[in-house]
Amino acid sequence: MSYTIEGDTGAWEVVIGLEVHAQVTSNAKLFSGAATEFGAEPNTQVSFVDAGFPGMLPVINRECVAQAVRTGLGLNAQINPWSRFDRKNYFYADLPQGYQISQYQFPVVGTGRISIELSDGSTKEIGVTRLHLEQDAGKSLHDQHPTKTYVDLNRSGVALMEIVSEPDMRSPEEAGAYLTKLRQILRYLGTCDGNMEQGSLRADVNVSVRKSGEGYRTRCEVKNVNSIRFVMQAVEAEARRQVEVWESGGTVDQETRLFDTGRGATRSMRSKEDAHDYRYFPDPDLPPLVLDTAWIESLRQGLPELPDARRARYVSDYGLSAYDARVLTAEKETAAFFEAVAKGRDAKVAANWITGDFFAGLNRVGKGIDDSPVSAENLGALLDLIADKTLSGKLAKEVLEAMFETGYSPLSIVLERGLKQVTDTDAIEAAVAKIIADNPDKVEQYRAKPTLFGWFVGQVMKAMQGKGNPALVNEALKRALDG
Ligand code: ADP
Ligand code: MG
Repeated sequence: MSYTIEGDTGAWEVVIGLEVHAQVTSNAKLFSGAATEFGAEPNTQVSFVDAGFPGMLPVINRECVAQAVRTGLGLNAQINPWSRFDRKNYFYADLPQGYQISQYQFPVVGTGRISIELSDGSTKEIGVTRLHLEQDAGKSLHDQHPTKTYVDLNRSGVALMEIVSEPDMRSPEEAGAYLTKLRQILRYLGTCDGNMEQGSLRADVNVSVRKSGEGYRTRCEVKNVNSIRFVMQAVEAEARRQVEVWESGGTVDQETRLFDTGRGATRSMRSKEDAHDYRYFPDPDLPPLVLDTAWIESLRQGLPELPDARRARYVSDYGLSAYDARVLTAEKETAAFFEAVAKGRDAKVAANWITGDFFAGLNRVGKGIDDSPVSAENLGALLDLIADKTLSGKLAKEVLEAMFETGYSPLSIVLERGLKQVTDTDAIEAAVAKIIADNPDKVEQYRAKPTLFGWFVGQVMKAMQGKGNPALVNEALKRALDG
């Protein structure tokens, strides 16, 4: 599927490379013990190191390094047992040290790759150039006072992973798919929460255009784009702008630009700085970062199953379609929910209910899977009531709706809402007695597995064509089974 922009002089190909800043999930900062909680009162999570006090010494946080290594392993990347921290010097009011501690020539993680999925069902490998650790800067607040700018240093010193891709993407869709996949992997690994609204994940989007068969032309970097949709829009807008520049006889200058989401266009921020402008040099306060291979190996052993593997397993083991497998593995919480419902049941039926009525229900009540009113256990119980024919598919949908509203188990809703009721206790007792007499094996199993109770209720209901008073059936069964 090739994407091009048609100009007066013919088709232009778009070339995209992403630099993603991912905030490391960690309770403490990269070189200090200060907390990293989002949304704290300004300047309440700042140590002397983060405030750049003279004479303070940074000490590397082992957990942040472990998170970077886990991420590298999750990106199929080479882990460098020897890396180094450098000072990247620049002046800014929210950078009290006067430099950022980063990694330049020797990053902790080398080349890797990410496989992305495209809407036509194809996949493509995107190269990862490197991943390095660095400190975040503080934040300037320009909107708190008419003439003053305030500085909040809570973010100063928070660990970031900068993940740089090769210029391997060729369309807005590929750029979006790359960021989606990277975010998914980070969230599976638990190394970054991926929250783009809070700025935990932000992308610098490098874009150039060229005629087919040419080498790369000059690129521009669109800074700090904070949603996947905006990344795709920024690529499109910036590529179109460059095509116009080239076609009108101009040249694209390498520069840093901003994406104006309101106008849907990029605008110039500053001309691109070069590495030598930063006067990088090894940070004399920090020894080289030397990693023990056994430690790297133990981190590898501790990695969770990642989205690609999980998706493949859903297709091969559960027999799901590629589409369902992809939807169900999008978030690890969804995957865990599906696996709990599918356990001991028909996996395809479970997948259908989850991707259909269950997701629709969550949408309706405005909740996520983590605070779903319908637990995996209760959804499973509902599927059991369908399987044993207590409920028709249509009735089950109604019951599920009620489950979303009340949080109750399907059985209690079936009982409570009743169907047409028979309150004649003799008729109910007779039906109960017959089911028990006809199913001695089930009665035996019930002793070890009380959850079979629902099966008995279902059978009695069925025998009574759904007309037994559910509460009375329940009582009569309890008496008969439990004595
Ligand atoms: P810098 O460190 O100066 O930003 P890099 O060489 O590290 O420069 O590249 C930064 C990003 O720009 C990478 O993601 C890379 O893939 C991308 N990139 C490099 N050249 C091009 C190009 N011609 N068009 C689009 N993206 C590019
Ligand atoms: Mg860069």
